[in-house]
Amino acid sequence: MHVARTVAELRRWRAEQAGRSVGFVPTMGYLHDGHLALVRRARVENERVVVSIFVNPLQFGPEEDYERYPRDLERDLALLRAEGVDLVFAPAVAEMYPPGFATTVVVRGPVAERLEGAARPGHFRGVATVVARLLNLVQPQRAYFGWKDAQQVLVVQRLVSDLALPVAIVPVPTVREPDGLAMSSRNVYLDPEERQAAAALPRALFAALEQFQAGERAAEALRRTVRERLAGTPVRLEYVSVSDRESFEEVERVERPALLLVAAWVGTTRLIDNVPLDPAAP
Ligand code: AMP
Repeated sequence: MHVARTVAELRRWRAEQAGRSVGFVPTMGYLHDGHLALVRRARVENERVVVSIFVNPLQFGPEEDYERYPRDLERDLALLRAEGVDLVFAPAVAEMYPPGFATTVVVRGPVAERLEGAARPGHFRGVATVVARLLNLVQPQRAYFGWKDAQQVLVVQRLVSDLALPVAIVPVPTVREPDGLAMSSRNVYLDPEERQAAAALPRALFAALEQFQAGERAAEALRRTVRERLAGTPVRLEYVSVSDRESFEEVERVERPALLLVAAWVGTTRLIDNVPLDPAAP
């Protein structure tokens, strides 16, 4: 497994792979089984697999956790070696954003401006900017993103479509802990009590999903179920939304594919999660 710390090393390696299919998994490191699901999917679909590990300062707000975001490069490299990854790109900040860097990629519209976009001003600008640069550097045929960050998937799909980037975006289902909590590098912030309480969040989502599968199509009924299930738990809901998967507008009735999305706080830790609502599913 090659480890490239610079753009020049990455470019040199990439030039040697001409004619081979490349799958790319961008991450911020501190890897868990959710990341590895993306890597495994990339491994079976491509001749070469590239993983980036870069905690992107541009996508953190000034009051957010950039400084204390968990990092463990040696452990990450061992996990990726075991998955048969071909190249890890782990650049320093000055390598990704050299002096004079002055370009920002801005996706507009509900998909980048509602929910996470509203709660975290600048977040999707940071995501779109780093993803555009990474895709241009790695030049993959396919890039893998987790549904865990559903809005990010839709922002990246918009970006790739609008800039006509020659890459297929492959979304991968959310990987969960045995109690249902979506795996996340940020789960390490939870103390044991909070960690146990956090499972109320997926339970509330799954209660609403069951209701949907039993035929409920009124978005407000689904949102109410989530609110009611979390009332009286330590999980403080920030938003619950039923958003159309195409327009990303709030919907009243789920007649087309949608997402039930939540953000919530447990102590000082902010969690996001979602489940797909597909009226065509059996
Ligand atoms: P991050 O390191 O948090 O930026 O995540 C890197 C990629 O892994 C993103 O595409 C995430 O959506 C994806 N990811 C993170 N957690 C999970 C999970 N529990 N299941 C599936 N994908 C995930």
